[in-house]
Amino acid sequence: MSRIVSQDVIVIGAGAAGMMCAAVAGQRGRKVAIIDHAKSPGEKIRISGGGRCNFTNRHASPAQFISANPHFCISALSRYTQHDFIALIERYGIAYHEKTLGQLFCDGSAQQVIDLLLSEMRRGDVDLHLSTKVEQVEKTSDGFLLKLSGGEEMQCHSLVIASGGKSIPKMGASDFGYRIAAQFGLGMTPTLPALVPLTFDDVLLKRLNALSGVAVQARVRHGRTSFEEALLFTHRGLSGPVILQISSYWREGDEIQVSLLPGQDAFALLRVAKADHPRQEPQTFLSTLLPRRLAADIVDAQKCTGKLADLSDAKLRALADAINDWRVVPSGSEGYRTAEVTVGGVDTNGLSSTTMETKAVPGLYFIGEVVDVTGWLGGYNFQWAWSSGWCAGKVV
Ligand SMILES: Cc1cc2nc3c(=O)[nH]c(=O)nc-3n(C[C@H](O)[C@H](O)[C@H](O)COP(=O)(O)OP(=O)(O)OC[C@H]3O[C@@H](n4cnc5c(N)ncnc54)[C@H](O)[C@@H]3O)c2cc1C
Repeated sequence: MSRIVSQDVIVIGAGAAGMMCAAVAGQRGRKVAIIDHAKSPGEKIRISGGGRCNFTNRHASPAQFISANPHFCISALSRYTQHDFIALIERYGIAYHEKTLGQLFCDGSAQQVIDLLLSEMRRGDVDLHLSTKVEQVEKTSDGFLLKLSGGEEMQCHSLVIASGGKSIPKMGASDFGYRIAAQFGLGMTPTLPALVPLTFDDVLLKRLNALSGVAVQARVRHGRTSFEEALLFTHRGLSGPVILQISSYWREGDEIQVSLLPGQDAFALLRVAKADHPRQEPQTFLSTLLPRRLAADIVDAQKCTGKLADLSDAKLRALADAINDWRVVPSGSEGYRTAEVTVGGVDTNGLSSTTMETKAVPGLYFIGEVVDVTGWLGGYNFQWAWSSGWCAGKVV
């Protein structure tokens, strides 16, 4: 019969949240094991931020998080803040810079963040098990019994689920956490790919294809939510930070509203141009405001031939609306294959917001992306992983 290894704490998932939790618990003197089915820890950290890991955001606050309960994240984010993580980065002498909008990236490589977490885990004597599958989880009278691949069994008092969301299955993402939530009777909010490029029907796609590679600063609105960042036309549809941001709010069938000239009134500008340069072609004028290919496409789509002087106010208005108020209905998204995160997840109603422990099953915790808390693009998702992981690590 195989020997059962006893731990105080088992963390499933050696990603951002799991490693933070394991390190904090280990440094408190708890006997901790962390298990991952992947060959290496922190694979998403490694590829994040284009290989430089946007590890937090200077301006992180609950306002940048999406959840069925927007108040849930307040406690964890205020107990372990971006300033705490920045201090940890600085303690390790990792050089970093602010790229834009408070987003902090390593100057060197995302591997430095993984190495920091591994070092913190070593300081806490955490036992790291890679390439290990959890076949079964059972509740026992004073904790949990785990059956692992290879026939090994482990038991623990506290079990922390840090297995992340569904995005990028090729990198080890699985629905494991959601299955454990279902096994223990926890609620779920619907899960969807988020921070993901949007796709379009064939007719529009043909047009977008011709613009592939064009980038422009844009404001994109969905209902009452809007973002102003770069928009990128691609051969698959629309992408760029502004599209990824709005994708977290977009639902199938919804329209998005795009201004390709944010903060400027295209109609007013066109009228002034018509008065000042009546012989100018609209495309020539718009090329002073927008990338040339995009200006040509808009003029073409609105069938605005001739000179500015030939265009009625109604024509100018239509042209201006195509710039300031372009309304499109995406047909879908690129899905979990390219999504950076999953919106939705384990219902926060079943969790303590200060410890992440489930209310129904004492000793069972959910942290990180598996929980129904999703950050905007810009370092917020890692901050949630650090904050929720730290809070659980302090009590398990
Ligand atoms: C391409 C890309 C770029 C990103 N860039 C950024 C960025 O720059 N800044 C930012 O804030 N966020 C970024 N994110 C989002 C961020 O990576 C995640 O929100 C964050 O990693 C979530 O942390 P987590 O610990 O909850 O989950 P993860 O980091 O996903 O870790 C989960 C771990 O659980 C393991 N696991 C899953 N299922 C099982 C199972 N059945 N058994 C055992 N182990 C299992 C996985 O192998 C993985 O190691 C990016 C995401 C992607 C995909």
